Amino acid sequence: METRDKKGQSRYNRQELLGEIGKKGQELLKEATIAVVGVGALGTTTANLLVRAGIGNILLIDRDIIELHNLQRQTVFTEKNVGQPKAEAAKGWLQEVNSETKIEAKLVDLNAETISILKEKKCDLILDCTDNMETRFLINDCAIKNNIPWIYCSAVGTKGRLLTILPDKTACLRCLFQMPKPGSLETCDTAGVMNTITTTMSAMQTTEAIKIITKQQPTKQLIAYDIWTQELQKIKVQKKKDCVCCSKKQFEFLEGKSATEAITLCGQGRIQIRGQKPNLAALKKRLEKSGKVKAMSYGIHFSGEETDFFLFADGRCLIRAQTKEEAKALYGKYVGN
Ligand SMILES: [Zn+2]
Repeated sequence: METRDKKGQSRYNRQELLGEIGKKGQELLKEATIAVVGVGALGTTTANLLVRAGIGNILLIDRDIIELHNLQRQTVFTEKNVGQPKAEAAKGWLQEVNSETKIEAKLVDLNAETISILKEKKCDLILDCTDNMETRFLINDCAIKNNIPWIYCSAVGTKGRLLTILPDKTACLRCLFQMPKPGSLETCDTAGVMNTITTTMSAMQTTEAIKIITKQQPTKQLIAYDIWTQELQKIKVQKKKDCVCCSKKQFEFLEGKSATEAITLCGQGRIQIRGQKPNLAALKKRLEKSGKVKAMSYGIHFSGEETDFFLFADGRCLIRAQTKEEAKALYGKYVGN
């Protein structure tokens, strides 16, 4: 039953008053199932807005544990949550905000094997709140193959990007981007991030999500926004006729062909990741902000607070970690994937 106040007003009254949504739109929101992939800066704020807006079913997916430095931007966590799994802690907080929303927390690494849950849970929409291109290409494959709309969203430094992807109707992520070389993209762990850009991008993403669920036209262009300069660009995107994913229907990431491989090496406390060839010079420069970097004849050695690793010119990385999952997460954080 929907919560009403003493005057009999619906908790969604101010939203139902909007011509863009109305009571009909509100009903559609209640019926919807949305997956939030990544419960970090974008995921916490987006999930918070969705739950308050009255989305009926939400699936939270995240592999990470809350760290103190996450509190600067991950809006549903408090100091007492440090050390807890993100998806679980977010679920607890969000459920108190709205007991009517059915929230499910999945504490998994979204990869070619686990991504089937998006189809199993019959998601109407997938929201990318991740921090790496590999997972985004995987979501793209899954969404195009199963005809599920999804919204690409990113925020690093003071800049954010957003694109709504409707299978068969719009360009897909691979029409726009190739898999970047490891080390060529900035990540929040090396470049930092403002909490105002993550919350702004989440607000944009949630708005587009509400448009899709209420069966209205989403914004067609790629949005590029810099919150520091307040410059917003709307960039036209075109479907590529020979796109590997949306035209040729080859789902390389879903088949695991392009995934970063992790292999445990015995007895050394190190795990090997077989990544793509990195841009060593650019990476070295970026990593210097996070720890000590030594250039070697074979590549680089990095040592920071959390880990240390050897990265070879051919893309192989030997990283100090306890588990494969941790190794992949650390690789994504420092090298980028
Ligand atoms: Zn495409």
